[in-house]
Amino acid sequence: MEELRDILARHGFSFKKQFGQNFISDTNLLRSIVAAAGVTEESTVVEIGPGAGTLTRALSEAAKRVVAFEIDVKLQPVLAETLAGRENVEVVFRDFAKVDLPALERGLGNYSVVANLPYYVTTPVVMRFVEEAKKCDSLTVMVQEEVAERFCARAGTSEYGAVTAAIARRGTCRIVKRVSRNLFYPRPNVDSAVVRIDFTGEGIAVKSEKAYRETVRCAFLNRRKTLENNLMQSFRIGREEAAELVRAAGAEEKARGETLSPEQLALLSDLIFMRGLIAENK
Ligand code: SAM
Repeated sequence: MEELRDILARHGFSFKKQFGQNFISDTNLLRSIVAAAGVTEESTVVEIGPGAGTLTRALSEAAKRVVAFEIDVKLQPVLAETLAGRENVEVVFRDFAKVDLPALERGLGNYSVVANLPYYVTTPVVMRFVEEAKKCDSLTVMVQEEVAERFCARAGTSEYGAVTAAIARRGTCRIVKRVSRNLFYPRPNVDSAVVRIDFTGEGIAVKSEKAYRETVRCAFLNRRKTLENNLMQSFRIGREEAAELVRAAGAEEKARGETLSPEQLALLSDLIFMRGLIAENK
């Protein structure tokens, strides 16, 4: 294939920083992302941000079907050229934040998400699938290295946070590849990593997803405060009740929220839910 930068230049394409446009064309990297995602000829893949279509093309060569969402209509002529003849690819020019996920899922069987995500939407996009997706088996996404560390962090580390706990409830998360900034065009200021999040396992069972979300929010509300204090503030309860909840969740008396594992947070959220501190189930 002609050099990516030549194709873009021929179409007079100018990069837009606000859309996080850093493209990849390294064939080995593209192949390794497709392999890490476990894409087979049975797979349906949803891609967010096909850019110039290099990853899209590699995915379409391995998958049954690829549905890609691109915000920048200026990429339309570029994609028409780079994806010419790829009958199993559909590119929808729409901001993914405005895509109705339940409606999208009604038109698909089980699917995986594979994407080199624009940096500015990484966490909201991943959180949408974590919170709302019903038919998604896995997400294999390239993100900034430090964001990857946060997604897969262990309890008690400074990287561990609300996003980590949300992902852990739905499935497993691991970094499958570190990627140098030199493999992107234009070259960004940070290195990246490919993360795979699998939803196929059991995840962590909770009595109420809403209670888990609110418990996690509370646990990380003020990282300097004890969990006891954060519980008192979030759920308007007295010190004694808060201390009792902390003990029942198996945490140390003056523990901070960030030291609780996702399993402990789940137990705490069940206790909070059963005490009626959070009203409706969801
Ligand atoms: N997949 C291509 C690659 O790997 O070379 C491009 C990746 S680039 C990091 C991110 C792409 O996402 C850009 O093409 C950008 O225009 C697109 N994008 C940014 N925000 C988006 C959004 N909200 N919805 C859909 N696409 C978006």
